[in-house]
Amino acid sequence: MPLMSVAAPKYADLTNYVSGSNATVVGDHIDVFNPSTGAVISRVPMSGAFEVDAAVRAAERALPGWAGMPIKERVQIFFRYRQLLERDLTELSALVSEENGKVMSEAQAEVLKSMELTEFAVSLPQITAGEVLEVSRGVECRVERYPVGVVASITPFNFPNMVPNWTIPNAIALGNTMILKPSEMVPLSANRIAELLKEAGLPDGVLNVVHGGTAAVEAICDHPGISAISFVGSTRVAKIVYRRGTSNLKRVLALGGAKNHLIVLPDAAIEMTSSNVLASMSGCAGQRCMAASVMVAVAESDPVIARLVEQARQLVPGVGMGPVISREAKQRIETYITEAERAGAKVLVDGRNTTVPGHEGGYFVGPTVIDHVRPDMRIAQEEVFGPVLAIVRARDVDEAIAIENSSPYGNAACVYTENGGMARYVTERASAGMVGVNVGVPVPREPFSFGGWNDSKFGVGDITGRGSIEFWTQSKKFTTKWNKEAGVNWMS
Ligand code: NAD
Repeated sequence: MPLMSVAAPKYADLTNYVSGSNATVVGDHIDVFNPSTGAVISRVPMSGAFEVDAAVRAAERALPGWAGMPIKERVQIFFRYRQLLERDLTELSALVSEENGKVMSEAQAEVLKSMELTEFAVSLPQITAGEVLEVSRGVECRVERYPVGVVASITPFNFPNMVPNWTIPNAIALGNTMILKPSEMVPLSANRIAELLKEAGLPDGVLNVVHGGTAAVEAICDHPGISAISFVGSTRVAKIVYRRGTSNLKRVLALGGAKNHLIVLPDAAIEMTSSNVLASMSGCAGQRCMAASVMVAVAESDPVIARLVEQARQLVPGVGMGPVISREAKQRIETYITEAERAGAKVLVDGRNTTVPGHEGGYFVGPTVIDHVRPDMRIAQEEVFGPVLAIVRARDVDEAIAIENSSPYGNAACVYTENGGMARYVTERASAGMVGVNVGVPVPREPFSFGGWNDSKFGVGDITGRGSIEFWTQSKKFTTKWNKEAGVNWMS
């Protein structure tokens, strides 16, 4: 029998990263795939309670030295880290593209956003300058912020570089030490981030990376040494992490999935609206928690739909858009489309059974536009997380708002109109944490913070910007009396 030669993965087996060194895990590993080709590119260890405990001990050892350093000194490291992200922009973007599948321009935009997030962290000394007030004659109250301790950040597959950088710079610059648990589907970028931070001068043990899946997350939720957990991922798992973490008396901020509605009013500018809706639903192959999922077309919106269909047909999978993350994701997305078609919706642009020449093993789904979707269909209610736009028709703006409000999610919503009063009317009534006017992906830029409502976020605070400061710190209130000034000694 002829011997089959199986090519070795491009990258060696991944290790955890603990106390500034690679930490090999003995035990189960699973394959990491390149979604554009279907090739195995590495293997990732599936850590459990033992590995989480080792990382927590390292973070605990590093905590006193790190938390005791003045914030102005701590942010110098992030200043250098930002320069290293810029130096390695092409390499880091290529790695994101390789493990996640997104096209290079999208991967590069992700790393550029990581740089911007780091710039915000570098400004934290100014932003967190405390408050002081003479509350009575000679009596002064002052507030200072302290880190919460050892914290954990659990991240999803869709932004392997950016989402870890939502939490790492702010949480660590504010004096915490951290365990990062990246998605097991895209684990490679996390180790590069840890290496770059070490190069920038981050002391060993301040950031530790533990790879794995459910067992690692459960161990994080249960570990008594961890004070706070941030989670970004699906609503199903956000609820699990929120419940388990808070039942162990930790503070938890858990961002979940989304079902974002874009409401198109009859006066919307046709070309701008169609290109913006298309970019929102197809960017990163629809795998963004801010992606357009339902377009609510109010009254006479056919010209926008016609132009959108024309533009979607010109989008070439493998060139203008990447694959979805896995074979299972491709199957799941195609099932949603088929079900909607069977239930009476009309598929105007069909991305099923897409193959890209030279990348036959890749998990591609083409852009898909489905009209006459009813609000009660599964495709109108559940998160599809693929390049699929469901168009629901509404008679008037109030019916459109009611459709948006009926979603259990609440990440983003957008209205397309040239009428300021209507824009205000819709955005005030949308049940979402981030709303746009003629902006289909209304991501707030720092210092504004990122976070949704309803089933898109559990916990208090937001994950980036000013909104994250409260989550990653605890405040200490000082009251000081100087008797000479006070005269009357009433606070003794
Ligand atoms: P996911 O929930 O499957 O996984 C997220 C993390 O949880 C991963 O690290 C994973 O290892 C871990 N995990 C998975 N199953 C688990 C379980 N049963 N118990 C404990 N931990 C578990 O999410 P994903 O598929 O990686 O990412 C896509 C989802 O993330 C989408 O729903 C998307 O909307 C959401 N997302 C939300 C935001 C936001 O800001 N709201 C941002 C990005 C992605």
